Amino acid sequence: MDDDFRIADILAKTKTIAMVGASANWNRPSYFVMKYLQKQGYRVIPINPGIAGQNLLGEEVYANLSDIPHPVDMVDVFRRPDDCPAIAQQAIAIGAKYLWLQIGVVSAEAEAIATEAGLSVVMDKCPKIEHSHLSGLLGLGGFDSGLLSARRPALRQPPAAKRDGGFTKSDRIETLSIHAGTRPDGASGARITPIYQTTAFAFDDADHAASLYNLQEPGNIYGRLSNPTTAALEQKLAALDGAVGACCVSSGHAAQLVGLYPLMAPGKKIIASRQLYGGSITQFTQSFKRFGWEAELVDIHDEASIKSAISDPSVAVLFAESLANPDGNVSDLSMLSRLAHDAGIPLVIDNTMATPAMCRPGDFGADIIIYSTTKFLSGHGNAMGGAVIDMGKFNWQESRGYPALTEPDPAYHGITFAETFGEYGYITYCHASALRDLGTTLSPFHAFLTLSGIETLPLRMRQHNENAQKVAEYLDQHVKVDHVSWAGLPSSPYHHLAKTYLKDGFGSVFTFTLKNGYDEGVALVESCNLISHLANIGDTRSLIIHPASTTHRQLTAEQRQKAGVGDGVVRLSIGLEHADDIIADLAAAFASLDD
Ligand code: PLP
Repeated sequence: MDDDFRIADILAKTKTIAMVGASANWNRPSYFVMKYLQKQGYRVIPINPGIAGQNLLGEEVYANLSDIPHPVDMVDVFRRPDDCPAIAQQAIAIGAKYLWLQIGVVSAEAEAIATEAGLSVVMDKCPKIEHSHLSGLLGLGGFDSGLLSARRPALRQPPAAKRDGGFTKSDRIETLSIHAGTRPDGASGARITPIYQTTAFAFDDADHAASLYNLQEPGNIYGRLSNPTTAALEQKLAALDGAVGACCVSSGHAAQLVGLYPLMAPGKKIIASRQLYGGSITQFTQSFKRFGWEAELVDIHDEASIKSAISDPSVAVLFAESLANPDGNVSDLSMLSRLAHDAGIPLVIDNTMATPAMCRPGDFGADIIIYSTTKFLSGHGNAMGGAVIDMGKFNWQESRGYPALTEPDPAYHGITFAETFGEYGYITYCHASALRDLGTTLSPFHAFLTLSGIETLPLRMRQHNENAQKVAEYLDQHVKVDHVSWAGLPSSPYHHLAKTYLKDGFGSVFTFTLKNGYDEGVALVESCNLISHLANIGDTRSLIIHPASTTHRQLTAEQRQKAGVGDGVVRLSIGLEHADDIIADLAAAFASLDD
């Protein structure tokens, strides 16, 4: 955090930057950085003996720092670490205040020399990325800056150097839910992120347009790829999971499609939990098959069978739910991430039911997190949406092989996403290629509703769980109920896993099994009055459904049984009404079964 504030201060006080190792080749990183910094109002003087005397981006190129005829605040270095001590000496000699060594350039010797002379040193970082983070521009790409602020950002200005750079930091979910990604609007000062109801965004000029299309600069081009309201939601979601970035899409199923697209190809296989949400099983085993993507379902608690399934070299992904819909079983995330990483594949976790308020799968090794934001995140049953979250930790280059990320992309002049964007490679691909070509864009209005919903996420989740506990305990004692599948009951086989991986409760979506099977299941849901009979979860309202006759209808009887939704199973999503009223409604519905 101190580093962020120090860097904000450096970037605010710097006016002139000497760039040692500036290249005239447009797709080299130094060219990207010089162009970006010029646009943010910095004067950048290129230093490169090979092209000395030539003009680069409107500036004369000098051979050495000592040739520059005017004062320089910062020396930014694109050179090998061995060259840096000498460059540090030259930076001191020309009176620079800051020495900045780019990503991958680390020299303790240069740092010691410069610090001794009173210069402030930054190493292994890029001023373009840091400036984009701090000024909020990187947020346009849905990346998490980790910084919170109630101040209105000055558009295209260096970050403010006022108290703490105008920022604060927190890793507490209550604060992040409200503040992450949602600073006051830069243009109007609006405290709530506006709904940017537009399909396209004006370019400043042809050069700006080219930079955006080249992915040299973060920004908006066309609403199918990005939108500022959606980007605010992406930052918020990424922050809640401690991730680097997110890509929001039109539904949870769209998130699965977009999230898997960079990893899959015809002949590649997904190994997934057979206890997944029924719609996901259908999507994976039926629809994805038509793309040539294979899926095999396994018992996600059987370590040996997972290990054997993922040893097949065509397997690209291990996929599970942290807390499964509908029967509330809990995955052993640490075990799954260990198995996936040993096999060189990423672990993808659908965290829809738990939300980051109860579980952060990335903390236990998950690489990519999927949400249906339609459920608890938006939380009020009024907005469809989905999100792909990238922890930025999976090493795509050293893995089982993901050519979309590690080989030159002809649609983007041969750039390689994993190399060009480093830890942002996968999530940049999700926006720049997957969303562009699959077109499953989230509506900014739904992004707005989801942003509002998330502000109360931790509060709501606690209350959902508290109510669920009372209802589960009531049902557990009921004579007509054979079994309650809720991880909070000490008798649940998942109780110990739930205690390890979940906090603030055990979930509010769970199933119970009626002793008298299918017909009684249908009769019970039809007899509830307060509890709504519908196909959703995670609403403020309590919801009930009989999966065998609805959500899991498309599955075979065998698949239903394996997914834990036999004929007498009823699913509840416990809402935020008073628990006594929810229980009274169920009691009345049970009583009506005897009529
Ligand atoms: N994942 C889980 C766990 C779900 O419960 C659902 C929907 O019920 C989905 C994914 C799909 O989400 P959506 O309905 O937003 O497409």
